Amino acid sequence: MSNVREILDLTKGLNEVDEALIKKAYDFSERVHQGQKRASGDPYFTHLVETAKILGSLEMDAQTIAGGLLHDVLENTEVTEKELEEKFGSEVLFLVNGVTNLGTLKYRGRERHVESLRKFFVAMASDLRVVIIKFSDRLHNLRTLQYLREDKRKRIAMESLEVYAQLANRLGMGRMRGELEDAAFPFAFPKENAQIEEIIKEKKDLYQKNLSEVKKELEKELGKGKHEVLEMNYRIKHKYSLWKKLIKREMNIEKVYDIVALRVVVTSIEECYRVLGLIHSIWKPLPGRIKDYVATPKPNGYRSIHTTIFTGDGGIAEIQIRTKEMQQEAAFGVAAYFAYKEQSGRAKRDDKFKFQWLEELKGLNYTPRESNKFMENLKTDFFSDRIFIFTPEGDIVDLPEDSSPIDFAYAIHSDIGHHLAGVKINGKMSSIFSKLKNKDIVEILKKDTARPSGKWLANAKTTLAKRHIRSYLEKHSLLSRLKSFRKSR
Ligand code: MN
Repeated sequence: MSNVREILDLTKGLNEVDEALIKKAYDFSERVHQGQKRASGDPYFTHLVETAKILGSLEMDAQTIAGGLLHDVLENTEVTEKELEEKFGSEVLFLVNGVTNLGTLKYRGRERHVESLRKFFVAMASDLRVVIIKFSDRLHNLRTLQYLREDKRKRIAMESLEVYAQLANRLGMGRMRGELEDAAFPFAFPKENAQIEEIIKEKKDLYQKNLSEVKKELEKELGKGKHEVLEMNYRIKHKYSLWKKLIKREMNIEKVYDIVALRVVVTSIEECYRVLGLIHSIWKPLPGRIKDYVATPKPNGYRSIHTTIFTGDGGIAEIQIRTKEMQQEAAFGVAAYFAYKEQSGRAKRDDKFKFQWLEELKGLNYTPRESNKFMENLKTDFFSDRIFIFTPEGDIVDLPEDSSPIDFAYAIHSDIGHHLAGVKINGKMSSIFSKLKNKDIVEILKKDTARPSGKWLANAKTTLAKRHIRSYLEKHSLLSRLKSFRKSR
């Protein structure tokens, strides 16, 4: 049986008041869950300790860790909201309530489930710590999923992949995403998981050996100049993301170059580019494989420089260069914002982590009869893979994959959308119904006489564009009916 020390030791930067709050939550939770058991036969309380430990490893603040320890008391014990608030304050109560909103409506039909998801998003948008607790809760549930019935296992695993992991990704929480996906993958796709494990087993040593040669040589060259490298290490691609990449590459493993990658962590952004230059002076880079996510971060905030090189003996290797700060951000994403030690820098980080889409998520309209549509919208607007599209001025608009210039135009402004007459993609005149690709530069041509049509609706991907077009068409047909009505009088 673990004890509260384990949680405290994992969490950095706690003061005495924080520790006291966590200890109090620990003792209280242990007492009120007394006698309850998990499907595994373990005391129920172990689930709360494990959840809190995951939160501790994310270096979350004391309220969040207390919230993690208490996240099931409203649902599974006699404890009331009032009691919880008196003992732990309104902030902890709010967090527990936010998590409970989803927890109470587990898998009792799609409709209720969707409604609970929607409530969850509302709570989440007002305080992201709610979702961070929910991720940690879900991660521990996935790690003990083998004790549940098979149909339940599959459903929870699929939902984790489709909703939770995607959400973690959009919040920039790369490590959480990877852990959720790898915990869910074997239950959602057992055969494919086994296949991937086989591939990794087979290829890992070869790639690692390859990279260790590269590392040795790079270390030697770095030693000659004044480079400020903090650390170099390998990372092995997460199983689920390797599987997804394999599908994109027609299951041809030879086309996946980053099963193992070498990570170089340096002191500054300038140093990133200096090291990139050095690497390219030693090895030839593969054309088209240099990715500068420092100059252009991914929509979720991910920053790093990636390059793929010919290692000389027929081998190919990926190297990722980043600063310590980028490393932290790539792992923790939005969670870094709540990390205890960052609290003094909160105001500064606020801008970087303004997730406008979260506000949109909160505003999503939904009626119970349309629960399927709601899920669908959610999937395209918020949980699909994203592409970024540039304006000619270099501004970035982030859209779901397979969006069209129509979506782009409406994302900029409804008036630009309504008067979309033509489009130049990468300088070439193109159809407004084309599918946009990542990093396209899109110039919208407006005409006052241009009008939305039903065909636009069929070629719009985002809910925003569809909503604008639909309301335009409705208004328009109403007006024309009104006009013909007046004429006939
Ligand atoms: Mn739980």
